Amino acid sequence: MNVKGLSEKEIFCYLENAKSEDTDYYRVLSSMCTHPHKIAVEAHRLFIEANLGDFGLFAGAHRLEKEAIGMLGELLHAESAEFPSEESCGSSVCGYLTTGGTESNIQAVRGMKNLAVSEKKSLGEISNIVIPESAHFSFDKVADMMDIEVRRASLDSKFKVDIACVESLIDKNTIGLVGIAGNTEFGQVDPIEDLSRFALENKLFLHVDAAFGGFVIPFLEEPYSFDFKIPGVTSIAIDPHKMGLSTIPSGALLFRSPSFLDSLKVSTPYLTTKAQFTLTGTRSGAAAAATCAVMKYLGREGYVKNVQYCMRLTQKMVEEARKLGFELLLEPVMNVVALKTPDPDFVRELLLRKFGWNVSITRNPRSLRLVLMPHNTAQDIEEFLQDLKKVTSEL
Ligand SMILES: *Cc1c(COP(=O)(O)O)cnc(C)c1O
Repeated sequence: MNVKGLSEKEIFCYLENAKSEDTDYYRVLSSMCTHPHKIAVEAHRLFIEANLGDFGLFAGAHRLEKEAIGMLGELLHAESAEFPSEESCGSSVCGYLTTGGTESNIQAVRGMKNLAVSEKKSLGEISNIVIPESAHFSFDKVADMMDIEVRRASLDSKFKVDIACVESLIDKNTIGLVGIAGNTEFGQVDPIEDLSRFALENKLFLHVDAAFGGFVIPFLEEPYSFDFKIPGVTSIAIDPHKMGLSTIPSGALLFRSPSFLDSLKVSTPYLTTKAQFTLTGTRSGAAAAATCAVMKYLGREGYVKNVQYCMRLTQKMVEEARKLGFELLLEPVMNVVALKTPDPDFVRELLLRKFGWNVSITRNPRSLRLVLMPHNTAQDIEEFLQDLKKVTSEL
């Protein structure tokens, strides 16, 4: 650290310089995050100092968090779930705002584990959970952090989790299942109803990772069922900082039952509140304000428009790519396209080096992964496909 502080001018010059190295989402087809909505940004600024880790001091920010959770609960049909009283969850809906899908997934599994232990299930032996092979890498962190075996079920030809494989992996030490509503690589939705059946039959928890899909699927013309309407679903992760257009860090974790949240509690002796069920301690009230504000501002209609826009871009990408002779790994379910090319890793590198396009790669099989987000335009797609054609014809 420098001994003497720099001037404001020097600092901002330094910051602007760093900022110019960011993409600002220009030619970015690889990200599930986007520019936050301006309302979210303003709300974030207004609550910049609020700490929800000690919410007794920030009653207003805490109220906004509860409202956001309430709206998310409604979006995910939580009214069909037995949501608890004020006392047990501090809200009429059970859940809290996390830093993102990773924290939500970690906490969902931690809850399963704590509840299974308290029910004396699989005592003394290592518990396991069964997740799809397509699960987000946050579950690798779960495997690493917790004394839990993470079993990966293979996918079917449409990149949904293979139900027979899930069934074959369930044994007496299994405590929970995970299904993905909008997987990160393919945008595919797992058969949550089948998973729910297994979960109910075997008394297992079922966590649905809708980090990306949660703000897409409910607004599609023909939505898939993936949420609390399905009786076996015990928890859902949904990220407002992806298609919810909120600021980073905004995730959310919702539970069907208050016992889940209770199982995550630790006591907090020196704070204004007695207990905490979050993974992080100090946490952003700004992100809660941003999420609440942008959801209220856009309303259902605003999110429908947002999803329609991204799906139109997706359709355009698909149609024009096909005209140029490219094939897809699967018919897009949401605004994620998996495009087959020869040597996708090399194509990705050339697209970046020669034309400044940021694309990513699906793991198995390897293909170009393109996420069509609100920061993309129809013109981007035309330019991108021309550049892609150039790159692949040189191979
Ligand atoms: C993005 C994503 C995550 C991780 O969310 P973060 O906010 O990056 O922690 C988890 N699951 C799925 C399906 C995702 O798309």
